[in-house]
Amino acid sequence: MALIVHKYGGTSMGSTERIRSVAQRVAKWVRAGHQIVVVPSAMSGETNRLLGLAKELMPQVNTAEAMRELDALAATGEQVSVGLLALALQAQGLQAVSYGGWQVPIRTDSAYTKARITSIDDTRVRADLAAGKVVVITGFQGIDDQGHVTTLGRGGSDTSAVAVAAALKAAECLIYTDVDGVYTTDPRIVPEARRLSTISFEEMLELASQGSKVLQIRSVEFAGKYRVPTRVLSSFTPWDIPLDEEAVSGTLITFEEDEKMEQAVVAGIAFNRDEAKISIIGVPDKPGIAYQLLGPVADANIDVDVIIQNVSHDGRTDFSFTVHRNDYARALDLLKAKVLPAVGAADVRGDAKICKVSIVGIGMKSHVGVAATMFRTLSEEGINIQMITTSEIKTSVVIDEKYMELAVRALHKAFGLERPAA
Ligand code: ADP
Ligand code: ASP
Ligand code: MG
Repeated sequence: MALIVHKYGGTSMGSTERIRSVAQRVAKWVRAGHQIVVVPSAMSGETNRLLGLAKELMPQVNTAEAMRELDALAATGEQVSVGLLALALQAQGLQAVSYGGWQVPIRTDSAYTKARITSIDDTRVRADLAAGKVVVITGFQGIDDQGHVTTLGRGGSDTSAVAVAAALKAAECLIYTDVDGVYTTDPRIVPEARRLSTISFEEMLELASQGSKVLQIRSVEFAGKYRVPTRVLSSFTPWDIPLDEEAVSGTLITFEEDEKMEQAVVAGIAFNRDEAKISIIGVPDKPGIAYQLLGPVADANIDVDVIIQNVSHDGRTDFSFTVHRNDYARALDLLKAKVLPAVGAADVRGDAKICKVSIVGIGMKSHVGVAATMFRTLSEEGINIQMITTSEIKTSVVIDEKYMELAVRALHKAFGLERPAA
């Protein structure tokens, strides 16, 4: 008997029929003798619908008061899911109880719309499990010190599940989704993408942080910090497939680096359409300029990702960086109104039609020429690289958004990541 956390995403919870199938699957695990905690997402489309309604009433949200309400609203999607799923489980003849994050409680900080989990009280959940119940807990949310409901950022149910698994010291966290594992890239963009049976924690972390939405980055961080065995697998197999088969399907995140030695240099390709580029033209090139430009941006709580400064001519240089698209308008306004006059730069320009494409692999640590292959491939496709950034295990380029799919496909091919021909 093991304690296992199951997480079901939006598509997996997308209709009462799907929810019934989730309940049947969970019942299979329970009848095999396991203790199961289930963390579901809102039904597919529901979080977007709720946030869309909010937008009709308040197009730009930039006060803490309004963000509090956004979280209170968005959290209801998962509240519906846990109620329905607990009913479906009871209909299968199981004992089941549902909780909102606030009832567990799952405590978070107060950063509305991107709160971080600070602690999880396992008392109540353990007592229910000991009493033979399946415990169903809302994904995506918690409660702060003042008792306000918070949410963890889009895709946050992954993080709820892994954090609950860590708190309960669960034997495994199974992330059930609409693909049967982690692929070399998003199979929606490259149909030839190949499923990886294992992926190292470091690579998964980098893929998630470079925009691969199959797992929210913080869930991977939790998995690493608490060494939670985490597996991504499909909820779209027939619910009654043999449990032994299901338990080893999908993609397991591994923590042993050595395992990767024999494998491909590049494990996968991620892309991110959520950023925008800002360029400040004709900046006086003198010490402290980066701080003068980016200090006020950081003070406004805007995260900066890729940064480049050009070679200077006649004492002036151009400086470019990327921010999340949600922060783009605010960053541009701030620079135009306050920073530009203060530093004496000539102009500030923005481009929201960019994307970032990243190749990721532990093998890049020990292989030279990987980045060169990336640049050559993009050049052969006539794709201009606007910015480049590297780390030990990734190389990212910022390119025009309209070339994103072309770039990902070409790189996937260039690094031989396709499925072997049948
Ligand atoms: P859920 O609602 O179950 O959380 P998500 O839509 O958040 O599902 O994540 C699953 C989706 O992630 C897949 O449908 C797929 O399109 C996308 N995805 C992006 N990159 C990858 C990848 N490398 N491997 C698998 N899926 C990926
Ligand atoms: N329902 C939330 C979202 O759509 C959380 C999640 O699905 O993980 O972002
Ligand atoms: Mg998700």
